[in-house]
This record gives sequence, structure tokens and C-alpha cells, in this order.
Amino acid sequence: MDLYEYQARELLQEAGIPTPDAIYAADKQQAMQALEHIGLPAVIKGQAKIGHRGQAGAVKVVKTREEASAAIDHILPMSIDGHAVNGVLVAEAMNIRDEYYVSISVDRTNRSFCVLATSAGGTEVETLAHDHPEAVKRMQITMLENFDHAAAVRMAEAIAFEGADIEQAATILEQMWQCFVTNDATLVEINPLANVELPDGSTQLYALDAKISLGGNAAFRHDGWKRFEDPVVSDTLEARAQAAGMHYVQLDGQVGVIGNGAGLVMSSLDAVAFAGDAIGQPITAANFLDIGGGASAEAMSRSLKAVTANPSVKSIFINVYGGITSCEIVAEGILQAVDELGITVPMVVRFDGNAAAEGLATLEAAHKTNVHVAATMDEAARQAVAFAAQAATPASAPAPTQA
Ligand code: GDP
Ligand code: MN
Repeated sequence: MDLYEYQARELLQEAGIPTPDAIYAADKQQAMQALEHIGLPAVIKGQAKIGHRGQAGAVKVVKTREEASAAIDHILPMSIDGHAVNGVLVAEAMNIRDEYYVSISVDRTNRSFCVLATSAGGTEVETLAHDHPEAVKRMQITMLENFDHAAAVRMAEAIAFEGADIEQAATILEQMWQCFVTNDATLVEINPLANVELPDGSTQLYALDAKISLGGNAAFRHDGWKRFEDPVVSDTLEARAQAAGMHYVQLDGQVGVIGNGAGLVMSSLDAVAFAGDAIGQPITAANFLDIGGGASAEAMSRSLKAVTANPSVKSIFINVYGGITSCEIVAEGILQAVDELGITVPMVVRFDGNAAAEGLATLEAAHKTNVHVAATMDEAARQAVAFAAQAATPASAPAPTQA
């Protein structure tokens, strides 16, 4: 999930990184109000999830209210390479001496992290890396070692933030690393990190633009990053679940399906459709939801919330293969979610893999009237379909038997 600049700034600020004063405004009226607070000169910056907004004319330094008004009118309706501008950031204009580029990203090739920096900020780093590879400094951070102050100082010295204070540069690198780690980011980029001249003549580094991507798989650990939900995206169940980092697709059946691993979830959908056919009822899956490898308790809670938000769901089929996370932990997550969310819809759980038997035993021991267990995928699907059929036609459908 990519953040807008105004959202990314919040995370930088939380890490202690200096940013110019700025206010996000959704429309013209708010923007003019924001300008009253920020003062002049100011920078009007279109908010779109894409780089080189400056080149596209969506970043304008303004010196008067009239210029600001014109810039806002110009930028708000813009669309940059197909990315609609969603409001503007009204920022205090800074007197830039030098611009640097710094980023921390996940290096998928060797499961480590990559710190990239160059003193030629402002421009596109991809172009620079291509034309002048020597100007781009790289540093690897492995999973085990931490990026401590000494490493940050070495990096800052290597980049040669000429004109800027090396200690301050190193501190910002460390704060970026903290920001990266605590938010489970896959990218934290500051471009430009600018050495600006303050009214008293001293200079200080400020993050003038930020780009942050959050790792989708870690959404569960951050309350689904709800605060970063895109107001532009329509508020559908699907959009909400996807914003929370889940691989959720809404279908038009009655049985909510939750599993880990796309293959297992696909098989579960088929098993539900087959069980529906077998009893001659048009009962199918209400959704596809793959909670991924981790299958943690929070993931389970979030998934159940997403699935039960769909009013068509009459029963739930949970099909989990215990890997790193044992089925016992998943079982506890299910029980916790049932209590917290007050779920009354019948649920049928099938476990396989790590601590499957223990997980099922945990569920049975809880004696929840709506939580049922099954030994196989087909049996679980059959039961879940029977519950859904019963809910649809309470009088005629046979009560499902427990495995
Ligand atoms: P991007 O083009 O999408 O990366 O947007 P940026 O936020 O990086 O802005 C583009 C350029 O606008 C920066 O590289 C700066 O040169 C310039 N800029 C941004 N903020 C300020 C500011 O406060 N003062 C001045 N003078 N220029 C700014
Ligand atoms: Mn930029």
C-alpha cells in the first residue's frame, strides 16, 4: 500500500524527522484556509500517488494569495499519468541550499534492506543510477544486524551531505530506519532531503517530500492501516479488506471462506460449490479470502470481521494449513475473534499441518455453540453448506450433523 505524501509525512514526523509545516486540504476552501495558517511564501503540492509531480506542474511555490489561488485551481483537477490528484498539501516554503535523495527499501534478492543515497537529490534516482552509478551510494542492512548510529554516520560520510551537518544526516538516517521497521514499510524514501537555510542564517535538514510503501502482509499488525484508507476509493467491502492488506474477493454465494494460501482457498471454493450441488442447492462461496502464510490470531480476527461484514454470509468455512503459525494459535485467534466480534454465524473449521489436532481440540474444548470442527476439507464444506442451506430455508433443510 502506497501512501500519499501527506500521510507519509505523518510517519516521518512520528520518527522525529524534521518536515516543513504543512496542512492537507481536500478542496479549494480548505486550501485557502490552510494558507492562512501556513503563511507566504508557500508551496502548493498536488497529492497523487506518483513521483515527478514537480515536472508535471503539480508542485508550485507561491508568493501571494492570488498565485496560491491560481495554483490550487490548476492543481486540484489534475491527473498525473492517470493518477487523480486527491487534494493539495499547503506547505511552508523553504529556502533550499542543497537537495539529497535517501531511501530504505526491501532488497528481495538477498532478504536484506538497502539504503540508497545520493547528494544529487531532487532528480529521479533511477535516471541518476543509470547515468552516474558512482554518485549513488548503497549500503546493505541484513536482517540480523541493526542499523546503529555508527553505521548511519559511515553512510552519511559516504554520501557526503556536503554543506549539511553529518551528525544530523546520520540521525535522520537512523530515524528513517526506525520509521521503516516500526511501520513494516517496504520503502521509505525522502526526495528531496533538503539542507535549508533558516531565517537566522543557520542550516538544517528537512524532509521536503516523502514516499512510503507499507508491506501489505503486515497490515494485520497495524489495525489494517485504517488511518491511511484512501478516501477516493469507494467504500466497498472489497476495498476495505484490500486496504487492510488482505487478498479478498467478494463472490455472490452464502458461505464465507477463509484459508491460507491461494491454492487451498481455491480448493475450498470448489469444495463448497460441490457440496451445494450434492444437496441440490444453489449454495456457493460468498468470498475468496487468503490470509497468507502467517495465519496469526490478528489475521484471523481481521478476516472474520471482513467476511461477516457481508450480509449474505450464512455460514463460514475456515480451512487452514498450519505452517509457521500452529493451528493451536489460529484456534485461539478464532475463539478470540468470535468473542470480540460477537459472531453468531455457524463456522466450520478444518485444520491440517502444524498442531492440527491440538487446534481442533482447543476449539472443541471452548464449547461455542456456533463453532464446529471437521476432519477433512470435503466434510467441512459439506457442513458449512448445510448450515447455509438451513439458514436459507429453516423449515425444510436437514440439520447438519457434526463430524
Ligand atoms: P515530486 O516532483 O513529486 O518528487 O515532488 P517534490 O515534493 O519532491 O517537489 C519537487 C521539487 O519542488 C523539489 O525537488 C524542490 O526542488 C521543489 N520544492 C518542494 N518544496 C519546496 C520548498 O519548500 N521550497 C522550494 N523552493 N522548492 C521546493
Ligand atoms: Mn520528490
